[in-house]
Amino acid sequence: MSIIADDNDYKKVDINAKNPVIKPEAAEYDRNFENSIRPKSFDTYIGQSALKEALKITIEAAKKREKPLDHLLFYGPPGLGKTTLAGVIAEQMGVEIKITSAPALERPRDIIGILMSLKGGEILFIDEIHRLNKVAEEILYPAMEDFYLDMTTGKSQTVKTLRIPLPKFTLIGATTKAGELSGPLRDRFGIIHRLEFYTEEELSQVIKRTAGILEVEITDDGARAIARRSRGTPRIANRLIKRVSDYALVKFDGTINEKIANLALDVLSIDEYGLDSTDRGLLTAIIEKYDGGPVGIETLAAALGEDSRTLEDVCEPFLLQAGLLQRTPRGRKATPAAYRHLGYRNSTEQQNLF
Ligand code: ADP
Repeated sequence: MSIIADDNDYKKVDINAKNPVIKPEAAEYDRNFENSIRPKSFDTYIGQSALKEALKITIEAAKKREKPLDHLLFYGPPGLGKTTLAGVIAEQMGVEIKITSAPALERPRDIIGILMSLKGGEILFIDEIHRLNKVAEEILYPAMEDFYLDMTTGKSQTVKTLRIPLPKFTLIGATTKAGELSGPLRDRFGIIHRLEFYTEEELSQVIKRTAGILEVEITDDGARAIARRSRGTPRIANRLIKRVSDYALVKFDGTINEKIANLALDVLSIDEYGLDSTDRGLLTAIIEKYDGGPVGIETLAAALGEDSRTLEDVCEPFLLQAGLLQRTPRGRKATPAAYRHLGYRNSTEQQNLF
């Protein structure tokens, strides 16, 4: 057999690898922290109520039919709970989940190895699925559709195709860029859902839940102050509560109220929109260096010394949703709201000065 891999020949997803904003030395610590606070059930998974209701029905129906779930695709910006939701689904179905990410499936043997290690009903979670290479995608097609692998043995004239059956499994794919998924792959998902940014109220609940796990005292106002600056994202809310609780402990008696939360967030350079120095740097560069835009993402990345993927995946979704950034066919533009937020006159007003 020409291509085959053993059971352990896949890498577990590195949750922080997709968010290079976290310093590498903090990755292990952050990952352990994320895992310790990750909700395991629909009851503790906050928000996304329409999606949860739809999923509960799908799960109930699959259980009644005694069949695995249809393949599912979740899309939306990083940190909104795609991986967490896949874990909740596995828990509800009472099955194991194997977690990997497309960049870890570089060679054919990586994807074959993981598919052959699956048992009936199990869930395979592939993060960043839009980054899957063509060969891996083609191996996945018959696996997703009819649960078999096509493998070739021998060389040139003696080549033979072997059809290897696989157990019936469920693939859950997650992506920050649904538009970059190839049509044939997207069509093989029975269920496609988008995750939404969280409201301030939902993020307050996330923060209070995490504070409870960390045994940190927090007032309702304190939770709201952090929620307001969490960019609609639970991962950011959780990261901020940890930093704010350090500040509250060192500078005060450990309890977080509104005043202490705001002081700590100012020290962390998180502004009232929740923007950090990278976000502000991006908007400032568009305004100051490119006259408000439009400017291409690669040019911006080079000007900022940042990875363009970080800007696109981590910074942009929220800036777009907050109305601070506009995407045009010719590049990115800062909106009048961005000028106002950063204390600039907008471009028309600036021109009128001369
Ligand atoms: P994604 O896979 O979309 O990047 P994750 O599932 O890794 O995001 O979630 C990031 C962190 O945010 C997790 O550690 C989890 O604790 C928290 N989180 C995400 N969604 C929720 C939710 N709905 N309720 C509570 N916590 C959440």
